Amino acid sequence: MELIDLIHKELPQIQCGRCDTPGCKQYAEAIVNGSPHDRCVPGGFKTLKKLNAITNTNYISVNSEYGPTIKSQKVKIIEEECIGCKKCISACPVDAITGGTNMMHSIIDDLCTGCELCIEPCPVDCIEIIPLSDQDAAKPREVSQFFYDSKENLTINKKRNKLINFSNKNMEISDTLNLQLKNRNIDKSKMIDEMQNKIIKSDLSKLHRFDENEINTFLQDDN
Ligand code: SF4
Ligand code: SF4
Ligand code: SF4
Repeated sequence: MELIDLIHKELPQIQCGRCDTPGCKQYAEAIVNGSPHDRCVPGGFKTLKKLNAITNTNYISVNSEYGPTIKSQKVKIIEEECIGCKKCISACPVDAITGGTNMMHSIIDDLCTGCELCIEPCPVDCIEIIPLSDQDAAKPREVSQFFYDSKENLTINKKRNKLINFSNKNMEISDTLNLQLKNRNIDKSKMIDEMQNKIIKSDLSKLHRFDENEINTFLQDDN
């Protein structure tokens, strides 16, 4: 097994980000790249000892600057108080919260690692901590990396689709622009510097928001 996997396997999989990296896998990567391995306060001395053995080092205690620790727990939304603002959904690293805009939100118990990241963003303070047995808390933590990675991939895909849409829109604009130049018998190569200057200097840097009529106006201005 690779060093990174050995380290990752010993981390508590809460995905809380307290170690100053977004999640457990990233912390394992950071350790392999030279970060101290005493920053996982939820893992406590038990995790530290295992990481000492793997990395052949001897940290004596976890660095409490990265605490406080996280107990065996999950959270619950007091549903009658929820205003449906969705702020908790964005904060949850494992997609353990469901609910639509202005609707009541709920926690998916099987996924909640008890990381507490949703509590602070809630504007009406309606998320409370429920203590669990160690055994019950371990179940969602065991599967958390899968759901953490799924959420990451979803976010990356959303960003990628946005970029593709943006790029497609620019292609459409570019086609329209080229057609207009051709129809008007305008020498494209001669125009290009002037147009670029004009775009840089003006609001036309937001050209992707322009429709065909506005492009026509721009070309008329240039003639
Ligand atoms: S449990 Fe939290 S502090 Fe520990 S490695 Fe995972 S993300 Fe970092
Ligand atoms: S619901 Fe809250 S406590 Fe549970 S995993 Fe998501 S952010 Fe963490
Ligand atoms: S942040 Fe609080 S109020 Fe907003 S949707 Fe989540 S639980 Fe409801």
